Amino acid sequence: MAVYNFNAGPAVLPKSVMLKAQEEFVDYRGCGYGIIEESHRAKPFEEVIQAAEANFRSLLNISDDYAVLFLQGGASLQFAMVPMNLAIPGKKIGFCDTGEWSHKAIKEAKILGNEIDMIYDGSADKFSHIDGIANWKFDKNLAYAHICSNNTIYGSQYPIYPNTGDVPLIADMSSDFMSRPFDINKFGLVFAGAQKNIGPAGATVVIMRKDLAARCPSTVPTMLRYTTHIDQRSLFNTPSTFGIYMIRLVTDWLVGLGGLPAIQAMNEAKAAKLYAAIDACDFYRGTVAKGSRSLMNVTFRIKEGDEDLEKKFVAEAKAAGLIGLKGHRAVGGLRASIYNAMSAEGIDALVEFMNAFAKANG
Ligand SMILES: *Cc1c(COP(=O)(O)O)cnc(C)c1O
Repeated sequence: MAVYNFNAGPAVLPKSVMLKAQEEFVDYRGCGYGIIEESHRAKPFEEVIQAAEANFRSLLNISDDYAVLFLQGGASLQFAMVPMNLAIPGKKIGFCDTGEWSHKAIKEAKILGNEIDMIYDGSADKFSHIDGIANWKFDKNLAYAHICSNNTIYGSQYPIYPNTGDVPLIADMSSDFMSRPFDINKFGLVFAGAQKNIGPAGATVVIMRKDLAARCPSTVPTMLRYTTHIDQRSLFNTPSTFGIYMIRLVTDWLVGLGGLPAIQAMNEAKAAKLYAAIDACDFYRGTVAKGSRSLMNVTFRIKEGDEDLEKKFVAEAKAAGLIGLKGHRAVGGLRASIYNAMSAEGIDALVEFMNAFAKANG
């Protein structure tokens, strides 16, 4: 039986990438041993990390003003590293609150003693939409402004990005990174834990304007300074070599598909099909307003939140080979994470299951 993996993260990776990694695992391209057994300073790995960086640079058209870094500590460490490095004494940090991952970032900024300017607060409507983005106003004295581009838990996504003027825009793109094109020049820094859309857990990609790194106060430890990793090209200490190797394969795959416009078209088609199935009947209800719905994490309920039926749905889906459909424990309900690597066949199988389940339980 085919198994389709709708886990939110760690999540599905392209089958061709998994097969390639398997093929190369014990003998990397004729070395006679695996890349995970290789020194991070030896030629084979140097080639891997350079190829991964080159893929990001070509897929996102990144100029030399920006560094591409491969760090550890997950997106969660970036919640602290960003304010540690980029906060400016006496200046506030702007936050746009679209859910759980915003809260975690705000918490770290506050621990470090920063004052927050809340630009947008979606809590009143339980983060079911992200409204008026084009009209959000950012005080020009902010040190920077932070957004979370896709809300993995609530299932909302920025349809457009705010205009912050000269205020550096920082984005946690963990769950929609490399799923659609974006203009990196509009951002001061973007970061993403690899395990949602571009690789295994253990590597975090940071793309940042190099000039911003100079803000870092002298009290920040070496390992937590962006300048360290920019200067050492992510090889200050041992990076997640296997993670970076997998990211290289995933970005090779993206290049081969035709880049970000091609994957965006595929993602839009997949999401449209799934949302259409949700909207087609009263049995299912999408939890996010049209216009803010995520192309990556599709959140929905059964009959206004019938928890028994939702439990039954998850169990029967699992038995049918459709795994990972339970909503995040903070919000309940159902969630299908349909990242880049989820195949069209997986969407078709889920839609077919949903229709049959609605018919049997409606
Ligand atoms: C998963 C996730 C995180 C946390 O990532 P870790 O790598 O586990 O720290 C942060 N932000 C978003 C948007 C996420 O989806």
